[in-house]
Amino acid sequence: MRVHIDQEKCCGAGSCVLSAPEVFDQREEDGIVFLLDAEPPADLHEAVHEAVAICPAAAISVQQVEGAERAERV
Ligand code: SF4
Repeated sequence: MRVHIDQEKCCGAGSCVLSAPEVFDQREEDGIVFLLDAEPPADLHEAVHEAVAICPAAAISVQQVEGAERAERV
């Protein structure tokens, strides 16, 4: 899994950080999201999918990477 964020869309709601604090964090100055881990391990994928679903700005997207991770789609 590869995580992408669109900082132009992000409104700083912070929902993603609550869902997956290992993957997302917010800038101190304006609350805009940034990634801590763009390729999180399998045990975090569910939390990342949840973050995608609840982000009010649709600023998060995920891409499945080819190869070893194919078998572990959530
Ligand atoms: S949930 Fe969406 S809008 Fe809120 S901080 Fe995360 S990326 Fe930004």
